[in-house]
Amino acid sequence: MPIYEYRCASCGHEFETLVLRKDEVVACPRCESDKLDKLMSAHAVGAASSDAPCGDACAPAPACGAGACPACQ
Ligand SMILES: [Zn+2]
Repeated sequence: MPIYEYRCASCGHEFETLVLRKDEVVACPRCESDKLDKLMSAHAVGAASSDAPCGDACAPAPACGAGACPACQ
C-alpha cells in the first residue's frame, strides 16, 4: 500500500495518507489546502536503508553497492 507523507505548505501540519490512485487529490486534513510538500515516506526510507551499509550517509543507496561511497568502503 503506498503511504505518502505530506507537509502542508499553508499551516505546516504533517500527515500521512494512503494514496490509492495516482491522480488522487490530497488535501490537508487540518486546513483543506492542497498546497502540500511531499515527504519521503518512512517506509520508503527504511527499505532503501536496508540495502545501504552506511544508511543515509551516502544516499542514494545504489552508490554503496557500486563502491562509490566513501563512508562504507
Ligand atoms: Zn494545512
